[in-house]
This record gives sequence, structure tokens and C-alpha cells, in this order.
Amino acid sequence: MTDMTGFVCTGYQGLTIERLIQLAQVAYKPDLVPKEAHHVLHDSFDSLQNAAHAGCAFCSVLVTTLHGYEENDNWIARSWRGAECEPGKSLFYHVQALPHSEVKVSIGTGSENSQEEFARVKVLDRVMVQIGANSITEQTGSD
Ligand SMILES: [Zn+2]
Repeated sequence: MTDMTGFVCTGYQGLTIERLIQLAQVAYKPDLVPKEAHHVLHDSFDSLQNAAHAGCAFCSVLVTTLHGYEENDNWIARSWRGAECEPGKSLFYHVQALPHSEVKVSIGTGSENSQEEFARVKVLDRVMVQIGANSITEQTGSD
């Protein structure tokens, strides 16, 4: 068996802390991936899964993590169930059904002053991953 430790897919090309900070200077949301400025990891959830199956260390972590989070009507990975998560209730299950499932990354903060504007933020300590659009309206293209 080939040791895939350390292998990462092309989605991570150009993804550096410096790049994430540059993007945050363009558009910053402390706890959301900004629609205007983010790094696109994969253009679809299928592409993310393919990369994970090919052995990409980071994509594998993302896919595995989605299996362990329960979807609780807000689409935010907050209810960790791990191996106890029922497959039909997992974020993985729900994300598979999204018509638009671009996988994007930005940097933010989990600090108490998270609503501060970017110029005043002292710590960027959260890498955020979003799959799909920012809202159902955006997802379906209707209003
Ligand atoms: Zn990957």
C-alpha cells in the first residue's frame, strides 16, 4: 500500500496564510466565508470527494468530518456526533443533495470581538470551510 501521508490535491495550490489574509482584506466576515473573496478548494462536492478518495489528506479530513456532524437546520457544523451520527442526519448526507456545492475557504476569528472590522482584528484563528451558497435563496437562485 502506498503511503499517502502528506499528499494534497491541486485545490490547495496557492492556498497560504498570506493568501487567506489578502482575501480577508478584500472582504471580511468573522464567522462566514465572504461571497466576494474566498479560495475555491473544489468546484463541487463530488470533486472534493474524488480528491479525498485519491488520498488528499485535507480533503479526507473534510469528508470524514462531514460524516460526524449532525445537520440541525442551520447548516453549521456545531453538533458533533462522531461515529454516533446517523448517516441520514449527517451534514455529509445533506451536502450531497445541494445543487451548487462549491467548496470554499476563508479565514476568520472565533474571538469574543468577532464582529470587529478587519483592520481592528488582532487574531485570525479560524479557517472556515463552506460548501454551497450563503443562503437558500442564493442556492436556488430564486427570491
Ligand atoms: Zn484535496
